[in-house]
Amino acid sequence: MTMKVRAQNTPPEHFIPYGRQQLDESDIQAVLDVLQSDYLTTGPRIRFFEEAVADFTGAGHAVAVANGTAALHAVMHAMGIGPGDEVILSPMTFAASANAVVYQKGVPVFVDIDPATLLMDPEKVAEQISPRTKAILAVDYAGQPCDYDALQTLARQHGLFLIADACHALGAEYKGRKVGTLADATVFSFHPVKHITTGEGGMIVTDHPDLAEKLRRFRNHGINTDHTQRAQSGTWYYEMTDLGYNYRLTDIQCALGISQLKRLPEFLQIRQTIAAAYGLGFADNPAIQALLVQPHVRHAYHLYVVRIDFQSSGLDRAELFTLLRGQGIGANVHYIPVHLHPYYRKTFGTAPGLCPLAEEAYQSILSLPMHAAMGARDTIHVIATLNELTAMARVFPAPAKDQSLTIPSHL
Ligand SMILES: *Cc1c(COP(=O)(O)O)cnc(C)c1O
Repeated sequence: MTMKVRAQNTPPEHFIPYGRQQLDESDIQAVLDVLQSDYLTTGPRIRFFEEAVADFTGAGHAVAVANGTAALHAVMHAMGIGPGDEVILSPMTFAASANAVVYQKGVPVFVDIDPATLLMDPEKVAEQISPRTKAILAVDYAGQPCDYDALQTLARQHGLFLIADACHALGAEYKGRKVGTLADATVFSFHPVKHITTGEGGMIVTDHPDLAEKLRRFRNHGINTDHTQRAQSGTWYYEMTDLGYNYRLTDIQCALGISQLKRLPEFLQIRQTIAAAYGLGFADNPAIQALLVQPHVRHAYHLYVVRIDFQSSGLDRAELFTLLRGQGIGANVHYIPVHLHPYYRKTFGTAPGLCPLAEEAYQSILSLPMHAAMGARDTIHVIATLNELTAMARVFPAPAKDQSLTIPSHL
């Protein structure tokens, strides 16, 4: 009985979240240094961070903004997405991907996914291209790049922009090419659950200088120069040429970003090691299926998503979720397909049945802890617990209304 109470109410002291930041002394020192410098925002560290991200990805230009959502919004604006313009995307993403289209009064057109990878299916994209289509928004779900060769071909054939929402995929590669060079513009987020963090933060990389220029203006109210440029040329004059926003990233955040980026190779290595351990740990468990990783990609593992056949495994997802919490394991679900959210249903008339494969996948997915602050013991604990719970479920299948039946006695 006490076990039940703990499973539902009191998380154990050592809790493993599905994602979190990893900061060390060098990161903290970088932030302390900037606090004692002349600029807290729009100082030299913004350019340094932008140049470091451009270098890392191999893209020509990088523009730092307040967060990943602002980055997506800025791209939609810079590409001229306007009222009624259609942008094709997968619903298996965070709502922000679609919201950015709507900020510009565009129309998100949801296409179904490949059930093996949960990535956008280029054949389904081709079917949805209309005279109103302006762009394809590819989401590198979980950290695996989409099929960019196929998407590029479609974009060229139809004169569309190709945008990459690579908030999951910093450091990923496709056929030996880095994410950041595979689309007309690529967006990253530096939220604490992502590969590197600035608290809140985002970046757009692109090879198009005119696009980069528009993005810089958009993040600064639509004004054509910033204060340092005016100081350098000794003038007070500026023009506001477009309606922009204050989407700037601060120097404090950029200092953290520069420091974190140096550690990215190490972070990616840890994520790959955890993924390999999960792969081995669940290889013999018939209830747990990993997503397919294409042989030609380097996966960045923002998420580690497994599919569990809840119908035949005797497990109930809500119950499994609670049992895992009781064991200090913060599983999660990424994502509720965007077209099923009430806002999209009432605004765009989307409904169940629009993307049946994504809807079916949603019923079976679970994101396991995956982050650079996780150690080997944490990883083994997740594997052992999940294997044990799925084994117990085969013996005591749901629906077991008396939850104690599915709780192993020692938990
Ligand atoms: C995190 C994320 C965003 C939004 O980034 P924020 O920095 O939180 O605004 C957008 N798209 C995807 C796929 C994301 O994972």
